[in-house]
Amino acid sequence: MTDLILFWHRRDLRTSDNLGLAAARERSAKVVGVFCLDPDILEADDVAPARVTYMIGCLRELQTRYTKAGSDLLILQGKPVEEIPKIAAALDAIAVYWNRDVEPYSRQRDNAVAAALKEKGIEIRTKTWDQLLHAPGEIQTGSGEPYKVYTPFWRNWYQQAKAEPAARLANLTGLSPTETSQAKDAGIIELPAAKDLGFNWDQPLPVEPGEAAAQELLTEFCREDRAIAAYDEQRNFPSVTGTSMLSAALKFGAIGIRTVWAAADAAYSCCRSDETHSNVQTWMQELAWREFYQHVMYFFPKLAEGPYREAWKDFPWDNNEDKFVAWCEGRTGYPIVDAAMRQLNETGWMHNRCRMIVASFLTKDLIIDWRWGEKYFMQKLIDGDLSANNGGWQWSASSGMDPKPLRIFNPASQAKKFDADAEYVRQWLPEVRHVDTGALVSGKLSPLDLEGTDYVAPIVDHKKQQAIFKERYKAQKAKLE
Ligand SMILES: Cc1cc2nc3c(=O)[nH]c(=O)nc-3n(C[C@H](O)[C@H](O)[C@H](O)COP(=O)(O)OP(=O)(O)OC[C@H]3O[C@@H](n4cnc5c(N)ncnc54)[C@H](O)[C@@H]3O)c2cc1C
Repeated sequence: MTDLILFWHRRDLRTSDNLGLAAARERSAKVVGVFCLDPDILEADDVAPARVTYMIGCLRELQTRYTKAGSDLLILQGKPVEEIPKIAAALDAIAVYWNRDVEPYSRQRDNAVAAALKEKGIEIRTKTWDQLLHAPGEIQTGSGEPYKVYTPFWRNWYQQAKAEPAARLANLTGLSPTETSQAKDAGIIELPAAKDLGFNWDQPLPVEPGEAAAQELLTEFCREDRAIAAYDEQRNFPSVTGTSMLSAALKFGAIGIRTVWAAADAAYSCCRSDETHSNVQTWMQELAWREFYQHVMYFFPKLAEGPYREAWKDFPWDNNEDKFVAWCEGRTGYPIVDAAMRQLNETGWMHNRCRMIVASFLTKDLIIDWRWGEKYFMQKLIDGDLSANNGGWQWSASSGMDPKPLRIFNPASQAKKFDADAEYVRQWLPEVRHVDTGALVSGKLSPLDLEGTDYVAPIVDHKKQQAIFKERYKAQKAKLE
């Protein structure tokens, strides 16, 4: 037996600040990375071409990093339960290491892989919670229960000491020529392009893939006079780049969460006013939302299947397919909603304020099941992530754990507040660029405004729909009382 350790990458596509990888390196210099292109994930019907393109870009950079460190990143294609034990046995690995994950599918897959490796007598090390600052179970209520409400979770989470970033991987020993040929026999492949996997994304990605680009985004965002210092206000304006754009990097682990926290903490320490402190803290709260949704997904995996609140299990949705298509394509006649959906379709990303607006519109104005929107987002988003997406949709649909039952956004008020000059709307709806700002913001476009354009009149009336929705919600609750 050699002293070779295989490190299985999943949503930790980097060599720095990677807890599981650092633990493997501590034990042996002969650490070889492996990534498995899993058909159960890639052939599902909710995969976004932009997301796969980003992931492949991250893998390409990761492969270069391994080569520079003296080792290899092996690419496999097939079911991990078959491929991982096969390669580990072929290379006579002493152990396979990986970081844990919260998602139901990942947990079930990991258990199966662990059992298959054990059967072959190969050791596994899987205790590290690399993607979170605090492992599920570390943050609990006074009575030892997982939190179901964000605010007390945040207070507790914020108070706990956070780990420092882990060391970068360096000075590795890779495969010998004989081992390389054994790996080839065990089925390793060249890293394919996203296109070769059936995902065509010809537009530029909204963010560059890889560790270096993610680190650059973080450094830029956290510089003293940069976006983090004005985050409280700027984050709400979709026409401004007032947020970090780190969501895809965090989803795929192109950056370590400890590194992110350390940068935020350093920015906090540099603050010279209470106002800047509060801005940095608001950003920290977003990182806590990310963890909150992952913790609840871990403890309540049924969230992935549907609404948490009983009252929502058989809610009488209209589920009108034409209206759903209009929403998807950005043709509802509500400019702020349509601009946001076009941004999503054209770039694979949507501003957070707009995610809330379009989610409220789908559920409360079109009265369409939020799961349709949840899936559409997954089919498009570069950062599509089960926990954050499900959390965001259940929050918007008022079906989640959040105790506030009804949250209805008025598209016109939202546009007035956050896109007062209609800059965002004009950017994404070129056909109505000429229209007066007041009309674009209020959504009251006259027949004259629409003349010669293919932009549509509103497909529903917000006021009426809101009343219908409230009525159904009340009736639904009453039925269950
Ligand atoms: C309906 C809906 C669906 C969403 N789907 C996703 C999704 O699939 N993937 C995803 O990463 N985020 C999702 N979000 C949360 C949020 O919109 C994005 O994380 C954010 O817009 C990403 O931009 P940023 O990186 O510039 O964020 P920043 O404002 O810079 O925030 C920093 C990081 O904190 C995390 N974060 C911020 N807000 C939230 C939040 N509300 N919930 C969870 N984590 C958060 C993200 O990792 C983000 O990168 C969704 C929100 C809604 C309302």
